[in-house]
Order: sequence, then C-alpha cells, then structure tokens
Amino acid sequence: MNSLENKHVVVAGAGGFIGGWLIAELIRLGCSRVTAIDLKPINLWYQVHSEAVNKVADLSSLSDCREILRGADIVFNLAADMGGMGFIEMNKAACMLSVLINTHLLKASVESGVERFFFASSACVYRGDLQESPDNPGLRESDAYPAAPEDGYGWEKLFSERMCRHFFEDYGLQTRVARYHNVYGPHGTFRGGREKAPDAICRKVAEAVRSGSNEISIWGDGEQTRSFTYIDDTIRGTMLLMLSDVSEPLNIGSSQMVTINQLVSIVENIAGVQLNHMYEIDAPKGVRGRNSENSKILELLDWEPNVQLETGLEKTYAWIYSQFS
Ligand code: NAD
Repeated sequence: MNSLENKHVVVAGAGGFIGGWLIAELIRLGCSRVTAIDLKPINLWYQVHSEAVNKVADLSSLSDCREILRGADIVFNLAADMGGMGFIEMNKAACMLSVLINTHLLKASVESGVERFFFASSACVYRGDLQESPDNPGLRESDAYPAAPEDGYGWEKLFSERMCRHFFEDYGLQTRVARYHNVYGPHGTFRGGREKAPDAICRKVAEAVRSGSNEISIWGDGEQTRSFTYIDDTIRGTMLLMLSDVSEPLNIGSSQMVTINQLVSIVENIAGVQLNHMYEIDAPKGVRGRNSENSKILELLDWEPNVQLETGLEKTYAWIYSQFS
C-alpha cells in the first residue's frame, strides 16, 4: 500500500491527543474521506478538523462499531481509557475495559471488509523484571514475552496486540501494531490527573513561573529513567508502519533516555528558572528504568524517532504556558 489518499479512513479516539494530530496529518496528505470518532462531546476534543466528518460514538459497543465502520477501508484505533502512571495505577479495571473497543472494532472491521487496521499499543506491555534498573539498555520487541506486563493497562494492550495477530492469521485482516513510548507535545493532556510526566512537569514549571513560587513537586526520587517521544515522530512512525508490510508489533519510541530530574532541568532551562525540588517519594512512579531499543524499526522501516527532547519540550512548554493566559 503506497498511500491512503483515496481510502475511507476512520480514526477512533480522534478527540484525544494522538488522534487529533493523526487527523491533521491525514488531511495534510490529501485524504479526503476521513471520519473522526470519539466518545467525548465534540466541544471537548483537543483538536477539531472541519475537513473530516466528526462524530461521537461509543466504540466499546459492537453496534456503534458496526455503524461507524460501514464502508471503511482503513481503521486507526487510538481510542482507550488511559492516562499517565497516576491514572493507570488507580484505574486498572477501567484500563482493561478498553479491550472492548479493540475487540469490537476488529470484529466490525472483518464484517465490513476493512483492508488495514492499526492498534496503538504501549511500552507498558514489557516485562517488569527488565525495568528494575535506571540503566535500561532498551526494550526489544521480543522482551514482551514471557508475559509480565504492567498490571491492568499493560495486560489489556498485550491481549489486544495478540488479538490483532490472530485476526490477521485467521481472517486475513492486515493489522499493524505500534508500541508507543511516552508521547508528548502540544494539544495533549496536561492537567486533570491523566497527564504524563513531560506534560505534568511543563505544567508545574509554568505554574511556578506564573505564580512566582519557587518549588516543584516531583514523583519519586527523580532518578527513574524514561525516553519521551515527540508527537511529530509518533505520527511519522505511525504512518510509515501503517503503509509497510510489517505485521509484527514495533516500538515507536525515542531512545534518548533521561532521568526525571534531567527532564525537569531541561524544562527549567527553557523557562529560565531554577526551582526547589520537593520529592514525593510515595507517589506513583512506575518502573525504575525504561527505554526504547530501535534496531527493529531501523531494520524494517529504515527510520527511528529523531526529535531531540530539548526541541520537543520547547514547543510543548510554550503551548502549555499559553494555556494559562
Ligand atoms: P487520549 O486519552 O488523549 O485519547 C484517547 C481518546 O479515546 C480520548 O479522547 C477518549 O475520549 C477516547 N475514547 C475512550 N473510550 C472511548 C470509546 N469507548 N469510544 C470512543 N472513543 C473513546 O490518549 P492518547 O495519548 O491520544 O493515546 C492514544 C492511544 O495511544 C491510546 O490507545 C493509548 O493507550 C496509546 N498510547 C499512548 C501513549 C502516550 O504517551 N500518549 C503511550 C502509549 C500508548
């Protein structure tokens, strides 16, 4: 498949962070039949693109999936009940219920003769015992098995990945699976309890700058490591994967690993402040060390995420800061 230009493309979760940017890219690429779907009322969508047909539906319901996918050629499933570590540690059942969305979308896709299906998986599928040290050498795709993923959210992602695989093997539906690693950028969730570390840190620094306070709270001791993937890289990787012949799950993640303390320093430099760090040792911290290992994506797609964290955070901080005015 070379292009999606003449296809009827459905994006599930289009009112969310990654979905909003994906619709923008599809329109930029000349797709004229794009349907954007989300559970939230349209006035709460992070981005609304008038070139798409924008609809509200509950994709955990099989009948809604059947209705929405009638005549569809391509499906991107970015819909999930999710958030950062603070949300997924406290809402395991809600996270697991997202299995209904992917299951019903897959079933309706087969019934409607959809050509290709994308599922947004996560680095949370990886085995916990490989993420106990901050010096994580990078998680390879094969490190998801034997299965011991993040409880709740990670199990749902791994199970849904597996379901994509078997829908391909048993029903011939072409499925593509990306394991996203911590995506950040403008027009994302930065407050309310579902935000992830980069957006939360940008928000806290912006609040400190605006209020003149000189403190920032940091979850854990700040020495836990992560890599963060800028939204432009995420969208580029998603499109490359979707148009490729790669049917196995692939990491889409930056390999620029930093500690949370380093992340805070970068944002402080961008904002031109130096804050006192207050550590909340008992707050949710997730695994001790996580990074993306990118040999496979380089081999199969000849590309890997390449936006530097400093560059992506500058744009993200500017957008979050602007949301307070
Ligand atoms: P998001 O929360 O901003 O967007 C998800 C959207 O799905 C929301 O707008 C939500 O309203 C919608 N949704 C939830 N239940 C629905 C339902 N029943 N029917 C229709 N829509 C429904 O999340 P995001 O950051 O854009 O993430 C998109 C996908 O990528 C998710 O599957 C997520 O698990 C995955 N992912 C994201 C990250 C990240 O760092 N953002 C990392 C790994 C994986």
